[in-house]
Amino acid sequence: MIRINENYSKLKASYLFSDIAKRVSAFQQANPDNKLIKLGIGDVTKPLTPACLEAFHRAVDDMAAEETFRGYGPEQGYGFLREAIAANDFAARGCDISADEIFISDGSKCDTGNIQEIFSNDCVIAVPDPVYPVYVDTNVMAGRTGNWKDGRYEGLVYLESTNENGFVPEPSSEKADVIYLCFPNNPTGATATKAQLEAWVKYALDNDALILFDAAYEAFIRDDSIPHSIYEIEGARKCAIEFRSFSKTAGFTGTRCAFTVIPKECRGFTSSGERVELHAIWNRRHSTKFNGVSYPVQRAAEAVYSDQGKKEVKEIIDYYLNNARIIRSEMTSLGYTCYGGDNSPYIWIEAGMDSL
Ligand SMILES: *Cc1c(COP(=O)(O)O)cnc(C)c1O
Repeated sequence: MIRINENYSKLKASYLFSDIAKRVSAFQQANPDNKLIKLGIGDVTKPLTPACLEAFHRAVDDMAAEETFRGYGPEQGYGFLREAIAANDFAARGCDISADEIFISDGSKCDTGNIQEIFSNDCVIAVPDPVYPVYVDTNVMAGRTGNWKDGRYEGLVYLESTNENGFVPEPSSEKADVIYLCFPNNPTGATATKAQLEAWVKYALDNDALILFDAAYEAFIRDDSIPHSIYEIEGARKCAIEFRSFSKTAGFTGTRCAFTVIPKECRGFTSSGERVELHAIWNRRHSTKFNGVSYPVQRAAEAVYSDQGKKEVKEIIDYYLNNARIIRSEMTSLGYTCYGGDNSPYIWIEAGMDSL
């Protein structure tokens, strides 16, 4: 008999974004004359910038000539892209990350969702509440939670993020082995200070735990005192994996390119307490189950780091930040309390009801 993975039956409802889309379409059908401004879904609206597009086109042409054609690429991604990332995203900010600690992928959704495969099923998982739903759902699918009860899954540690703590949870007294953090946060727009991240790194080192740091929105940070990477914190190389994506930075949501950083010192433990390199395990997983990002897309992503690319990307992000300012000021003038929007595209609005 073909039995199913019954953990899927625990999933609370359909995936959040498809749920939003269904509600929107039902409302539109019922109210065809109402104009709807959609503030609820995160996607980019600006096209690829000229620098990316030019590199993309050129690389497509490379695929058409025998001398420049590429077949299967290197499993971790092309060196040209990993070197550009290491230099611009990390070395330039004083972070010690080398190109071979970077894994190119087709998205941070997949990476943040798949990474849990390399952890034991009895790891205790901590997630901020609210946060991007992928972290919780993929752990539910894997069987690391109990049932959905009173609005939460049993067996998960929820890190309360409220206006009282500025939507940045502190390490809690409840022990966790894997801690997901997302700053700038989706959906609250909160950012974490250096001291707040230091507290989490200390917690992870003291407890042999691991931080999964989702920095999908780091390009929106404008305040110089806010860290862009968890590796700006001393000790993070031992206890943190970072996820980055070109999706929100450079409008790659449809083009698909992202990367995950696993420093060589980043450790996990076997049941007998032996230390192992997570880099080696993820490398094994990535090279077995993932086929790589296409060569033209990796060339387009590389162009984000050219002088022209940097300038264009900054202009696009300024545009989204300005939209955020407009939303915040309009909603504030309507009498709502709003958070976020300064170093993030997200505005978190107190609507007096649950967000789901
Ligand atoms: C959009 C987003 C991602 C990932 O996007 P990809 O398009 O899969 O790279 C990751 N984390 C958060 C918090 C996001 O909002």
